[in-house]
Formats: sequence, C-alpha cells, structure tokens
Amino acid sequence: MINSEPKIIVALDVETKQEVQQIVSQLNPTLCRLKVGKSLFTSLGPEWVNQAQALGFEVFLDLKFHDIPFQVASSCRDAAQLGVWMMNVHALGGIKMMKAAREAIDSYHQKTNRRPLLIGVTLLTSHSEEDLKEIGLSGTLNENVLRLAGNCYGAGLDGVVCSAQEASQIKAAFGKAFLCVTPGIRLKDQNRHDQIRVLTPVEAVNAGSDYLVMGRAILESSNPNQVLRHIIEEINNELV
Ligand code: C5P
Repeated sequence: MINSEPKIIVALDVETKQEVQQIVSQLNPTLCRLKVGKSLFTSLGPEWVNQAQALGFEVFLDLKFHDIPFQVASSCRDAAQLGVWMMNVHALGGIKMMKAAREAIDSYHQKTNRRPLLIGVTLLTSHSEEDLKEIGLSGTLNENVLRLAGNCYGAGLDGVVCSAQEASQIKAAFGKAFLCVTPGIRLKDQNRHDQIRVLTPVEAVNAGSDYLVMGRAILESSNPNQVLRHIIEEINNELV
C-alpha cells in the first residue's frame, strides 16, 4: 500500500531544463515531493517551481534564507505566494530573523488560509568541528545543532533540517510534532558519494525522521518510481 502523505523528498540536484524535465517525467507525485535548491532555482527560476506544482508535486524550496530580518521576511512571503509546501531559513541568521520569517508566513496564512511549513537549517553537514572554530562557534557540532534547533523551536518554526542521527535527540528535546527533515539517506550497500554519516530510509524513520531528502539514490536509478515504491513499502512494513 502506498502512503498517502509522501515522506520522500527527491532533491532535484540538476541544472538544465532538459535534465529536470527528464527526471520529473519519470516521477509520480503520489510517491514523492520535490526539493528545488539554489542551483536549480538560480538557473531556471521560479517558473520551474510553478511547473512542478502544475504537475501535481508539492515543492520544498530549499534556499536557506539568511539575511537581515526584513529581507528574509519578504523572501518568505514571496515563496509562500509561489505556493510552495515547505521552505527554509538558516538558523545562524538568528532568532529575530527567524521570527520575522514566521510572522511573514503567518500573515500570509491569515489572508489565504494556506500555510507553508517553515523549517531551519542548523549546521551544514559539510561543516566539521574545525570549521566551527574558524567561524568562532565554541562547543561540539552536536551541542551547536541542539542549541540552534532550540532557537528554531523558540522562534516558532515547524522543524529543522538535520542528520537522521540527530533526530531522536531533537525529538526528545522539542517534541514529536517538531519536524525533522533529514538528508544523507542511502539504500543498503549503496554508494555513499560525499555523504559521511548515512542511514537507510527505515533506520532514519526509526530514528524519528519525518521527511527523507534523497538525491542521488533516486536520481541515479534507471527506474526511480520502482525505487520509491520499494522504499515506501519497507517504511510502511516497519511502521505497521
Ligand atoms: O544526493 P544526496 O541524497 O546526497 O543529496 C542530498 C541533498 O540534501 C542535497 O540536495 C543536499 O544539498 C541536501 N542537504 C544535505 N545536507 C544538509 C542539508 C541539505 O545533504 N545538511
């Protein structure tokens, strides 16, 4: 049986119209949502978000807004007007910035009754403890992730992007309803590429992940829908 609320968000990490059209034509909106990131958005623009939505896909706009509160608030309002399902800001932008984003989306919601999810990026997975020192952040990676997740929670965000390995700690600290959106997912024995700490879809869901961001594990398959169906069945069997 197919889950009516797709947990898998396919990261459209491609740059040309041809590539994106080819991938999307192979995907089914009942099986997944789509993530549009900086690279695709910069090359193809908002028009492509509209096209994906017209095909029935819900879109996570992954632009990690980080700027003065006024700029971030208006970017979030614009993203809400585009009709996206989820968007994000960078927690290092601070609580004031995140509250401004929250208020912008809430005032949009009052007028339209549509409320996109707003989540925060804590630390990038490409950051090491050395990088934190260089930026001037003290404490371990884990301490920083938990502190920044707490800032996201305090600013009223709906959740965070985090590693699936951090999800159980975040759920324990901020409650089940606080969403954990997790990249770094690979099928068993699959190429890890540049991801260091990976979990399988079932392991991630068991750890508390609400939505799984998957790029290459799906994009490099000759039959993406078959892979998606297989993962959904595995997750559903686990959740029974
Ligand atoms: O191909 P793969 O599944 O590794 O892609 C993971 C996706 O998740 C990419 O779009 C990447 O930018 C994104 N991501 C990540 N780590 C984060 C935040 C986002 O890998 N901390």
